[in-house]
Amino acid sequence: MNETPMRARALVDLAALRANVRALRARAPQAQLMAVVKADAYGHGAVPCARAARQAGATWIGTATPQEALALRAAGDEGRLMCWLWTPGGPWREAIEAGIDVSVSGVWAVAEIREAVRAAGRPARVQLKIDTGLGRNGCQPDDWPELIAAARAAEDEGVLRVTGVWSHFACADEPGHPSIQAQLRVFRDAVGYAERQGVRPEVRHIANSPAMLTLPETHFDLVRTGVAVYGVSPSPEIGTPQELGLRPVMTLSASLASVKRVPGGHGVSYGHHYITPGATTLALVPVGYADGIPRAGSGTGPVLIGGKWRTVAGRVAMDQFVVDLGGDTARVGDEAVLFGPGDRGEPTAEDWARATGTIAYEVVTRISNRVPRVYVGEEPGADAGPGAGTNVNESVNQQRS
Ligand SMILES: *Cc1c(COP(=O)(O)O)cnc(C)c1O
Repeated sequence: MNETPMRARALVDLAALRANVRALRARAPQAQLMAVVKADAYGHGAVPCARAARQAGATWIGTATPQEALALRAAGDEGRLMCWLWTPGGPWREAIEAGIDVSVSGVWAVAEIREAVRAAGRPARVQLKIDTGLGRNGCQPDDWPELIAAARAAEDEGVLRVTGVWSHFACADEPGHPSIQAQLRVFRDAVGYAERQGVRPEVRHIANSPAMLTLPETHFDLVRTGVAVYGVSPSPEIGTPQELGLRPVMTLSASLASVKRVPGGHGVSYGHHYITPGATTLALVPVGYADGIPRAGSGTGPVLIGGKWRTVAGRVAMDQFVVDLGGDTARVGDEAVLFGPGDRGEPTAEDWARATGTIAYEVVTRISNRVPRVYVGEEPGADAGPGAGTNVNESVNQQRS
């Protein structure tokens, strides 16, 4: 990987991403798959990742914010696309014009959609969210009849079409947690009620990666997989990526910026939290917390240099950290691998999560824009673009029966 002469790079293996999507689809053969690409595809790059996911059969793409969804449309994505994190003011009209499925958790949003549809001149595709117990976004079950009534009235007037009913789990990463079955019961009730009121959703969905991997009864019509698409395990309890048949997509590495001999008793990095125990060689890894390396990795973060697993010596600074090579040496420009699939003995994102007291989701997602993404494994001859899915314009223009 040293053929790329850069300070640091996040290699993104799109062939691994496509293989992950195919492996996940095989585990939920009755359901469609949504690849969640919020937060710039968990740090991997939303546009290339959405395109690769569609090539591997993801019929839906999901984002948190409408801005993220609109950016995908601007880049040419034309398939089914949903976003769920809305605040008053929208941008509803832009999303409706772009044929994006918008999530609604309260009647205030139905009112804003009514206005936006008038300006857009076409009906909105709306997915109604029920809070089955997460306690975050979503309509409280007590308020569900009111929301369903508002949505059905708007639907009968041709303002919108209810395309989905959905929810989100609180503890799917803790298999066997009693809240999982409790949320499923509330979800089934909410779907049943909506359908009795005349709602005809195209998709009913509740499963994120951990639910999708551990509990087939959560699959319904669609699974919303995020972290697993990137080959990262939702939690150690659920298994390693390898055990789950997944391959980590991102490899984060940097080129050593300095290698030098220092005497024993030398303080290292801010605060001198590391003192060399004897004469040794220090290597400077030119990435820091501005690149998304957790400062909590000070004295704990693992890194592979010269085939050996090392630990960050002293503090992670904004732009750099230091590694004590002990009796070994290295050359300026040698590669330091912070995390990757693990094939070459390098740490994984899960190892960084353990070392820094966080989850692997955060380790990959926080890698900042200062680190260039280098894409490998593009589908050979792929020129279909990101829109190689359902043509949303056709579908949106269908009249409901
Ligand atoms: C992020 C997110 C997902 C994907 O979760 P993973 O655990 O990464 O699979 C699914 N649904 C919603 C609502 C989300 O916010």
